[in-house]
Amino acid sequence: MQLYKNQHIKVYNSLTGKKEPFETITEGNVGMYVCGPTVYSNVHLGNVRTFMSFDMVFRYLKHLGYKVRYVRNITDAGHLENDADAGEDKITKKARLEEIEPMEIVQRYTVDFHNVLNQFNFLPPSIEPTATGHIIEQIELISTIIDNGFGYEVNGSVYFDVHKYNETNNYGILSKRKLEDLIHNTRALDGQSDKKNPQDFALWKKAEPTHIMRWPSPWSDGFPGWHLECTAMSTKYLGEQFDIHGGGMDLKFPHHECEIAQNQAAKGKSPVNYWMHANMLELNGSRMSKSTGNYINPAELLSGKNDILSKAYNPNVVRFFMMQSAYRSVLDLTDNGLLASEKGFNRLMNAVDDLDNLKTLNASSFDVKAWKQTCYDAMNDDFNTPILIANLFEAVNHINAVKEGSKTISSEDLEVFKSALHTFVFELLGLNNAKDSAEGTEKLSGAVELLIKLRQEARANKDFALSDQIRDELAEVGITLNDSREGTTFSTN
Ligand SMILES: [Zn+2]
Repeated sequence: MQLYKNQHIKVYNSLTGKKEPFETITEGNVGMYVCGPTVYSNVHLGNVRTFMSFDMVFRYLKHLGYKVRYVRNITDAGHLENDADAGEDKITKKARLEEIEPMEIVQRYTVDFHNVLNQFNFLPPSIEPTATGHIIEQIELISTIIDNGFGYEVNGSVYFDVHKYNETNNYGILSKRKLEDLIHNTRALDGQSDKKNPQDFALWKKAEPTHIMRWPSPWSDGFPGWHLECTAMSTKYLGEQFDIHGGGMDLKFPHHECEIAQNQAAKGKSPVNYWMHANMLELNGSRMSKSTGNYINPAELLSGKNDILSKAYNPNVVRFFMMQSAYRSVLDLTDNGLLASEKGFNRLMNAVDDLDNLKTLNASSFDVKAWKQTCYDAMNDDFNTPILIANLFEAVNHINAVKEGSKTISSEDLEVFKSALHTFVFELLGLNNAKDSAEGTEKLSGAVELLIKLRQEARANKDFALSDQIRDELAEVGITLNDSREGTTFSTN
């Protein structure tokens, strides 16, 4: 029998603000969509935390025996600089600055994104669709929204009519905003905009003559609005209504609000049963921001090459640190927090190793089966990983006590213990037993940095044969060098 028949999850639904029993649309199947990255720069550590939260959810649902179709998109067009409907396309801008093709930017940062996620031991999603691969679906969706009276065309661009929509629907249903307040808080249009109202958002934008990323449409040569791709791709792969839609808290408004509006306008349905939002990652108590310098990227965190933390951290320690906080809580990344997690992680791994050498007796002084259920209870309670980890440390205490001879365990219970610990630690939290490799990683990183430096010297001396040899031979042993304007970084496969 599938575990989900006994283990009943409650999910905090951002739409209703309540923890609700998780019931799938089709028995035994889960459709889950998570908004992926806009691939115009190295992935933000805060995004890594968001995606890690949903990686954990994906792992748990699979463990319970659900057949999960997990769709996480790649935004490779249409995301404008200021997240609204003005400014340059983020990818086009980066391409212009670096004097390369937009698709080179997309390729570079998609590869970087996957490399970073691999380092943190992510499972790949079932489908990873791109916005540019679904232009036809997006154009069809716009046509339907116009036909249903919720979209209008002006000078080759198409906008969503928020005011019209709000007459029969609730714009703000997810973010708990009221259209009247939004109207009150936005400045009047300056006459430059084609929109009827400032709250309207773009479904299609006519491309300026210099805009490289453009597609033909019934309205103009242009490109789709950012919110549209997720509506098109989620419903294409998961159906008009599906189980879970996730993303970072910052996407709730306007992005997810607009997704709901588009779906209602096109299909007359609210697309999602459970909206899940992962909270923000802070650094030393305040928001991470490149401009203030309170910022660290994943590569700097793992290599130790930064002015913020005292040392390099193993990706498993970082993963453990992130899992020690519930996905709905703000998490503050600090050196002390990471050091404490490193200690805890090593303690946990030592205990897992000790399981193979424990002496068993006829009886246990610990109710292993009850303990195992408390681990499930934690996960069933809206994926409460910190409580799960607290339970794992209870197991660690017991293992240590058995080792010292003050407690006992039967051989039958030991087997239950072993398999449960492996399930929760490796399969569900996604950790690897890497305590021994932490030091190794630091040494490796030092050695590769030296080779990167030698390669830079070779390039400066125009010795490209040597520079290519260093890159190729590192690639052969599974170390990829990634060159960019900011310098060279490396990733291991
Ligand atoms: Zn999205």
